[in-house]
Amino acid sequence: MFSSVLAPNGSIVIEMGNAWEKNRPVQSLLHLNSLLSFVNNEKAGLRLCQEFICYNPARLPSPAQWVTIHRIRAIDSFTHEWWISNSDYPKADNRRVLRPYSKSMKKLLKSGKFNSGKRPSEHVISEKGFLTDNQNIQRIKLVVPTKGIALDGEIDFVSSVRRTIYEFFISQPERNGFIDALKWLIFEEYSSSDNSKIWHLATCPHCSVGVDIQKKNVQNDYTITCPHCGDKIYLTDILRLHEVIDNELGAGGILGYLTSAVEQIIIVYLIKQMLNIRPSLLSQTLFVKDGPLAFFGQTANLHKPMRKLMTFLNQNHSIYLVGLEKSGSFVEHAVQASKKMLPKQMLLLGNSYIYKYIIPGNGRDSEPYAISSYYGHKVIFKSEHNNVYVATIPNVQAMVEPQISDYININEILYNITALKCDLYYNSLVPVVMANKLVSLADHPSSDLLKTFAQEKIIQ
Ligand SMILES: [Zn+2]
Repeated sequence: MFSSVLAPNGSIVIEMGNAWEKNRPVQSLLHLNSLLSFVNNEKAGLRLCQEFICYNPARLPSPAQWVTIHRIRAIDSFTHEWWISNSDYPKADNRRVLRPYSKSMKKLLKSGKFNSGKRPSEHVISEKGFLTDNQNIQRIKLVVPTKGIALDGEIDFVSSVRRTIYEFFISQPERNGFIDALKWLIFEEYSSSDNSKIWHLATCPHCSVGVDIQKKNVQNDYTITCPHCGDKIYLTDILRLHEVIDNELGAGGILGYLTSAVEQIIIVYLIKQMLNIRPSLLSQTLFVKDGPLAFFGQTANLHKPMRKLMTFLNQNHSIYLVGLEKSGSFVEHAVQASKKMLPKQMLLLGNSYIYKYIIPGNGRDSEPYAISSYYGHKVIFKSEHNNVYVATIPNVQAMVEPQISDYININEILYNITALKCDLYYNSLVPVVMANKLVSLADHPSSDLLKTFAQEKIIQ
């Protein structure tokens, strides 16, 4: 079968591990038999060009019974790689597999090999934890139209986007999951049952007049009737994204704000679940958010209820939350500044430092940096492994010059960040790598793929 699909100068490479006889400390000859049956089949006309050994001393001790319990066999530490072809001279060039010269080159190859999807035995895969564990990660998908579309029953693009976001919030990750978390957050339901609490919405999506939303006026389906125009407002309209969506220009501008807000509502949802089920879980959980702890653009006001929630948790339970930045001016600065930092040293970022070295300007002296969007303070931290992180950690109160006591649980958080170090990418952390593995389609190829896919579907 293989030979019929093989190009005249093509090759097949097969990797096969060692097998053991059941319940005996005896190696199976299965791999040898299968190799022989490949190359002895005259109809196929295949030959073994070369055998390689893939040596991996880090494999789990196997076969476990004979290696770790009876201790009468050594660890099975290699697999066979057979290069098979239908020609003595298949296309080959050993200059493409020259041994690396430099340390950095070796490191690169090491990480490349890690990624290359080579098929080690299942043992090896599970040893590398997150390669398989991420099968169990719960994925939450949100598809938002960004232009030129109207949903059935909607008058225009803006209302279609609003409904998409609303439907996401009432259906994910379970019925009314996120929308109830949003309501719980803004009306502080964790500490108060006051039905007259008010959230001020700057503009009604229909009549653009400001609306004071009272908790008791929120209906069972998480909508409110506008007191000015009588139209329906979704509770998700408090994200105010309708203010920046345009029927003609589209909704491209909201995606960053929306993603960041959703990521933080997911955290709120998890906190709410934990408080319901077992509040002590909070003391055993570190929440790691990609990016700073802040709400941007139209959603910025949500930083206020978020800080209230952090304060409540800090006083009554516990909260370990950190936002980690991977790019931007703070990260660029941290790379430079870290050259003068000692391992385990941290740099607390207050106005005087930020405006002098990172964001040019003077700020307003009496106003802490980014007070209208952040609910935490920033810190640059160099770990004992010399990795450098730019982190935001929640604060109870925004300070112009934060002291270490103004960061909630900073020592425990940085200790755990250090422990979660991952060698896969520079300065990466296990949970972030796990999450990114799920969204690893890069912008360019993925948009092309999606385009092709969409065109096919439309033609059908
Ligand atoms: Zn209205």
